[in-house]
This record gives sequence, structure tokens and C-alpha cells, in this order.
Amino acid sequence: MNDETPIFTYFRARKVFYMRPLQMVDLKQQYLQIKEEVDAAVLDVLNSSAYINGKPVQDFTAELAAYLDVKHVIPCANGTDALQIALMALGLEPGDEVITPSFTYIATTEVVALLRLKPVFVEVDPKTFCMDPESLRKAITPRTKAIVPVHLYGQSAPMEEILNIAQEHNLFVVEDNAQAIGAQYNFRDGKHKRTGTMGTIGCTSFFPSKNLGCYGDGGAIFTQDDQLAEQMRMIANHGQKTRYYHEVVGCNSRLDTIQAAVLRIKLAKLDQYIQARRNAAAFYDEAFKNQPLLRIPQTSAYSDHVYHQYTLIIDGVDNPAVFRDGLHQFLATKGIPSMIYYPVPAHRQKMFESFGSADQTLEVTDWLTERVISLPMHTALDEEQLKFITEHVIQYFNQK
Ligand SMILES: *Cc1c(COP(=O)(O)O)cnc(C)c1O
Repeated sequence: MNDETPIFTYFRARKVFYMRPLQMVDLKQQYLQIKEEVDAAVLDVLNSSAYINGKPVQDFTAELAAYLDVKHVIPCANGTDALQIALMALGLEPGDEVITPSFTYIATTEVVALLRLKPVFVEVDPKTFCMDPESLRKAITPRTKAIVPVHLYGQSAPMEEILNIAQEHNLFVVEDNAQAIGAQYNFRDGKHKRTGTMGTIGCTSFFPSKNLGCYGDGGAIFTQDDQLAEQMRMIANHGQKTRYYHEVVGCNSRLDTIQAAVLRIKLAKLDQYIQARRNAAAFYDEAFKNQPLLRIPQTSAYSDHVYHQYTLIIDGVDNPAVFRDGLHQFLATKGIPSMIYYPVPAHRQKMFESFGSADQTLEVTDWLTERVISLPMHTALDEEQLKFITEHVIQYFNQK
């Protein structure tokens, strides 16, 4: 334990214990483990004064392209920009339809409406929380132009089926990979690909709490397509290839050099970080596997899991949302954070009122919204903390 770390005390069997306070994501602890390396890299950037487009930006994008095995990595300012730039590059017309799951973070769907395109919301599979191909198939109309599957909580959407549907209907696929960087998809023919590299374009976020997070905002776009890559680089840079000659309306979206310097260090450790998340998830799974009212996260046959979130489903109680919120509050009184990702699905958001989506019936999405709860998940959870968390979750169920 570090001197700067405040101590959290608790009692078990009338003995006092000392533990690092629990957080959903313990960024401080992870930083302390790599502090020397990070501090030196950040100082190097400060000394170089190349704060924008410095060498670490090129180095990081090349290293990430190699890690993902993708031809082009285009850095940008955040994950939301990445999605926006991807959709801008596809040459869509106002009113064209873009299909997304409703059960996702708002950014996925917000950029669609922002670009005057029409978001069309579909269901997810209650086992994997990712887009349901049957629901997708039913939502396709002659105006459908693109599909945005989300690799939610760290597991791939069923890409093989989604790509087949896209090919049948001649649709673009933009993968929202903000939560699953490093995850791998297993195709039926035995081939493997990283999430974010299978569709027309892949997008990710380097927000601090993401699996590959920097110390501020950051994002990136991936593609195998040379022309799209050129177009997206241009859009992210005020629509110019040559300085002061602006060919298309673009935006200003860059990854800072300091963030790239941090990301280079963390990318080299990404597999190790993923393993730490898997170990924590395995501990949770083991502790909860025999709880009759809890469903532990399911891993699909086609994807591995990088556990951006460890999300449980509470099933079999009368008032699931009340019961679930009660667990959230009970844990809070014990110093254990938990989160509801996400309390309101996209189709019920006021921002989409004009699309009339609230009248839509998305049973699985609504069902999940009342029943999910995510527990602390990060790379520095130790066994004592995991034990403390799982014991209290079980205590709540035993009291009921
Ligand atoms: C975080 C996230 C985004 C947006 O990333 P930002 O960097 O915060 O803009 C988009 N989609 C999903 C699924 C996310 O989790």
C-alpha cells in the first residue's frame, strides 16, 4: 500500500482490517504502478514542446495498428468524434437510416442524429448485451445505409452474422469498439480478428476509464480501406490534405502528444491489463455462480471477453429495479461503488423524442435496463477487495 493512499477500515469477526478504498475504476493505483515510466514520457513531451502531432502520436498509431493488425489507425480527440468522423466519411444523405442498439452509451446514437441521419434502434441479446441479428434484420428498410454494432462491456457483437446481413443489403458497418479494445472475434472458419477491425470502420475511445485509457480525452478510428482512411484523416483535420486548402467540411479532432505518450506505455501492457480484468471476473464468477437470483456474464462462443465492465443481471425478483437499486444503496453504505450502465436506453431518451422511438417496443432492452448492475472492475483489484465486494453482495441477497 502506498503512503498517499487513504486507508479504508472494516471489521470481520470483530477484527479490524485495512484495505485500499474501493472504486469502480482505480486509475490512481494503476498510475502508481507505472509512474516512473509515465512521468518520464510526459516530461519528454514537455521538453520537446511538440504538443500537437509530436512523434509519440505517430509511434502510438503505428504500434496500435500492429497490435490490432489493421492497416490504418487515425487518431482523434475522443470516441464520440471517432464515431462522428466515421459516419461523415460514408457520404450519407440527411434522413438515411443508421441502425444501432438502444442498449448502449449515448454517444453511439447521438452522433447519428447530430449528422441529420435517422437513428433506428434495435434489440440486444440478453446473454451478451450486444446487437441481436434478428432484430437488426427486421429493422432494415430501403433507406438503411449503415449498422453500428457496439461491443458492449468488453465482448464482441456477433460480427459474422452482422457482416453477412450488411453484405446482403449493401450496408456499411461501423463498429463501436470503445469498450472492447483487445477483444478477439473467432470466425467459423477458424480465423480470428480483433474487434474494431472487421467492419468498414472501427472506432474507439481512450477516455481514462476505458480498457486502454489515457489521462484526458482521446480516440481513434480504424480501417483497412485506403480511400476511407484518407477521407477520415482529412475530415479530422478541417477537411484539408494540404494546409489551407479545404476540400470538405470537417472538424478539428486530434490526439494530444502527451496522451499518445501515455498510451504507448499502456498499450504495451494492455494484454497484461486484460488478464488482470479476467482474473477479477473469474473471482466474481466463482463467488456468484450458485446465487439463484444472479446471472453472471456469459461469454459467447465467438468472442473472448475483456471485461470493460463486470455486469450482473438480477433475475427472479418481483420488483427488479427496486431490488437492484436497493443492492446499489446497500453496497454504497459499505463503501462499495456499483453502477447502472445504463439507466435509460437510447430509445427512451428525450433527445430522440422527435424520432418517436419511445413508442417502440424493445422488450429485452427494457428488461435489461431494470436488472443490470456493474461492480468495480479495473486492473488493480486485489483478492481482499474482491472478497469484501462479493461477501457483501451475497449478504444483501441472504437478507432478502
Ligand atoms: C465511451 C464510449 C463512447 C464515447 O467515447 P468518448 O471518448 O467518451 O467520447 C462511445 N461509445 C461507447 C460504447 C462508449 O463506451
